[in-house]
Amino acid sequence: EVKTSGKNGYQFFDPAFYGAMRQRKQRERELQAAIVENQFVMHYQVRVDAATQRVVSLEALVRWNHPVAGLLYPDEFIPLAEETGMIVQLGELVVDTVCAQIAAWGREGCAPVPVSINVSSRQFNERDMHALFLQSLERHGIPPERVEIELTESTMIRDPERTSERLQAMHALGIRLLVDDFGTGYSSLSMLQQLDFDLLKVDKSFTHRLGHDGQGEILFTAIITMAHALGMKVVAEGVERPEQADVLARLQCDELQGYYIASPLDAVGVQGEIRRRQAA
Ligand code: C2E
Ligand code: MG
Ligand code: MG
Ligand code: MG
Repeated sequence: EVKTSGKNGYQFFDPAFYGAMRQRKQRERELQAAIVENQFVMHYQVRVDAATQRVVSLEALVRWNHPVAGLLYPDEFIPLAEETGMIVQLGELVVDTVCAQIAAWGREGCAPVPVSINVSSRQFNERDMHALFLQSLERHGIPPERVEIELTESTMIRDPERTSERLQAMHALGIRLLVDDFGTGYSSLSMLQQLDFDLLKVDKSFTHRLGHDGQGEILFTAIITMAHALGMKVVAEGVERPEQADVLARLQCDELQGYYIASPLDAVGVQGEIRRRQAA
């Protein structure tokens, strides 16, 4: 194949580029098959109250159990799912899997801890999330208070009016609304308050600055003060060290999440973690 561009009017076929294209096409076919066969598993990471260490919620994080490559993490397939639009089907699968899991935990007599579900921008804008959540909740007989939705700032920026309508409908059902990776995008606190968000999840890059320089603490203080004044709670993600947890508790950060608290675990493991914490 010869392309008519470049200084001489054409370029020679580039095998490295062609190889990458083929690999991408291959991954795309595999991802399509993975959706049909449901090769995905959910892991769950606890979110705790900063003062009491009580588990307040679980975050559902998707993994792809690839038949050859083994367990793949979201960074290896969510971008491709977004680009190809497969994120819509994958998202439907995630919501239904999580609701089925909540129902199963209920039958096993586990404590009724809410679960938060990540929804990416394209997924939110292409699928009626209100209808999707409603259908899944009804199918599995779960009260809306048992689920939360995590959106990033970019989702709100793209189409504020339509996003607002859909979010209000979900909120009216009783589903809590969270902003994920807060501080990395371009939304304002007042816009998030208008959209009725319950909780800001401050991006882990801010948490990782705590202890390194004074700036991290200054930023958290400002975010927490403003969020509280506007009626929102704050959770710090990516808490990896005890000093970070201590600083955050002192700054009145409401909730904590991160490897220091607990890593994401499978459906059985996370219930063990919850029981262990209740007993302590
Ligand atoms: P996120 O929603 O911001 O999730 C937090 C990520 O940080 C997770 O990575 C989690 O395992 C990781 N993490 C937790 N504690 C710590 C810590 O102390 N330190 C550090 N460095 N990392 C920590 P994961 O599971 O690889 O997920 C990456 C991203 O993929 C998520 O970021 C989310 O945006 C996306 N994602 C995950 N599951 C889903 C899903 O079901 N649907 C959609 N649309 N996106 C998902
Ligand atoms: Mg999240
Ligand atoms: Mg996050
Ligand atoms: Mg993130």
